[in-house]
Amino acid sequence: MDNGLEPKFLICTECNEEFVFTIQAQEYFAERGYSEDPKRCKSCHTLYKKGQRGGKPRQQTAMQYPD
Ligand SMILES: [Zn+2]
Repeated sequence: MDNGLEPKFLICTECNEEFVFTIQAQEYFAERGYSEDPKRCKSCHTLYKKGQRGGKPRQQTAMQYPD
């Protein structure tokens, strides 16, 4: 079970609130090839994603939090 990961505490660039980048989320991101930490907390990220609907097909390249 020990994969060397620890929860990270990050500051959201949208609301400036501290949020936890959980091990689960880190693994999820890593599986998708993301090496950078998320810049938004989950709630801001969700709003950001909703605001991006502009007729483009769904992009899997955008960062996505696990549910
Ligand atoms: Zn936020």
